[in-house]
Amino acid sequence: MANKLAFHSPLPMPIRLRLVLLASIAILSMAIGTWLVISRLNETRTSVEREVLHNNWALDCSSLIHYLQRERGASASFIAANPKDFDAVKRTRSDSNAALESLYNNPLATEHRLARLGLADLRVKLMEIRNGVDRRSIDWRRLRDAYTASINTLLGAVSYEMLHEADTYSPKLDVIAELALAREALGLLRATVNSVRGQVIRNTSDQIFIATELTLYRHHVDVVRTHASESEIIALRSVLDTPEHTWVMDAINRILSKHEILVAAPYGNQWWERSSKLIDALKTLEEDLFDKLARETTEKVRTQKTIVLWMSGAALVMLFILVGFVTITIARMMRDLRELSTALDQIVKKENYAIRLKDRGGRDELSHAFQLFNRLLEYTDRLIRDKETLASMDTLTGIMNRRAFMKYAEREITRATRYGHNLSLVFLDIDHFKQVNDTYGHATGDEVIKTFVDTVKARIRDSDLLSRWGGEEFIIMTPETGINGVKNFAESIRAGIAATEFPGVGHVTCSLGVAQWQPGETFEAFSSRADMALYEAKKTGRNRVCTG
Ligand code: GH3
Ligand code: MG
Ligand code: MG
Repeated sequence: MANKLAFHSPLPMPIRLRLVLLASIAILSMAIGTWLVISRLNETRTSVEREVLHNNWALDCSSLIHYLQRERGASASFIAANPKDFDAVKRTRSDSNAALESLYNNPLATEHRLARLGLADLRVKLMEIRNGVDRRSIDWRRLRDAYTASINTLLGAVSYEMLHEADTYSPKLDVIAELALAREALGLLRATVNSVRGQVIRNTSDQIFIATELTLYRHHVDVVRTHASESEIIALRSVLDTPEHTWVMDAINRILSKHEILVAAPYGNQWWERSSKLIDALKTLEEDLFDKLARETTEKVRTQKTIVLWMSGAALVMLFILVGFVTITIARMMRDLRELSTALDQIVKKENYAIRLKDRGGRDELSHAFQLFNRLLEYTDRLIRDKETLASMDTLTGIMNRRAFMKYAEREITRATRYGHNLSLVFLDIDHFKQVNDTYGHATGDEVIKTFVDTVKARIRDSDLLSRWGGEEFIIMTPETGINGVKNFAESIRAGIAATEFPGVGHVTCSLGVAQWQPGETFEAFSSRADMALYEAKKTGRNRVCTG
């Protein structure tokens, strides 16, 4: 039965180890969870940082486009109409070079990327075109188309990036790209018109070119309008609703409708200046958008950093709390279990049921178990003490029985031996008790015995040992008492009994034998002398004290 009930743990390890294992698993899971959250946040942060990089890349492309457009206009004009204006060409070239350097220095301008986007040989291509310009060996239209090809490659690069890195791009980049395209159409118009100024446009292809670019310009501006936010539309209007814009549009329309000759004033220099002003205004608009984008992204990065910081801090604090909580809980439980185990050890080894566990004052299962354990100890302790009392007590009279008396008597003899004290013994026996039983019945006999004991008890000292020796015979050991003392004491008991009225029976007498302990004498010899004295008392007429 016991074997069936026995609990066999699947893991043969102490509770302490198991708790530590569980706590370690909990802490490890928490650490992994925290790590996952932080790495996820870091990923987001990395993606925002990538966004910044890509925006800067787009901005660099856009700037280069702008300066190449200017270089294209100035160079085409130089080839077509104004051979003296080479200084203007040089100025635009140095601006383009700076923008090209900036693009090539962009962290994203890896060899692979530049090759993929067709930008790897941009510098070489530019050198070729510029050589043609320097030698004046290139027709202005071919020159314009050569620049346009490079500009288109750059515009393509921005669009391609936007398609392939869509997740890292803001919708604002759509607007920016369309603005760039509108600007490019306007740039081509600027270059073409500038190159043919002072001439009647007879070349149909020029006219078709101008018409196409005007349409493209309008188309891209319309797309910007549909995609732009309210504030962006207001900014766009501040460029489009200006006298420059009206003037430039009027000039183009006039060229297209009237085949107008673009003589010097007012169209000569004004055309270049006003169209450039318009293009610059669009460029400024574009840069403002880039700025806004950069600010938004920086803000995003800052927010991400703050979130990561707070999350890490919170995770760390939680980890500390968890570790602290687990440690304290395990330590407390282990302390309690140790205390319990020590207590059980003492009970089993020393049979000490008097110990009690400390009241922990808590309300948990262990506190409850401790309280119950203490109650169980109290109960067991009481049972054992009761059992001991019962084992040494005479049930009828409540005084000690012979067995218990023997234990104390030996102790008293040892004491008297050590200190040389007096020690005496009294044997008492009720006279003719058989007759009492026979006359009044056994129950009355019992009552007589009880009254007899009560009467004797009233006359003894606390240090005297009174015991029922058997039947109606009793024994009293009196420490610190010599023969005269014990004789007087026995006599007082005899007289007391003789004077006592036993209910329903009347008077009862008793005989007593006394003896004083002789140094070196055993209990057997000592008691035998007292017993002999009692026998003497019986023999010589009862109701008397004899000395042994
Ligand atoms: P003596 O004066 O010589 O001592 O005569 P006695 O009758 O007292 O002595 P005896 O030994 O002949 O008888 C003792 C009786 O005591 C016998 C026994 O039945 C009775 N007795 C012993 N113990 C008890 C007890 O606990 N209750 C009662 N009612 N009687 C008891
Ligand atoms: Mg008797
Ligand atoms: Mg007797």
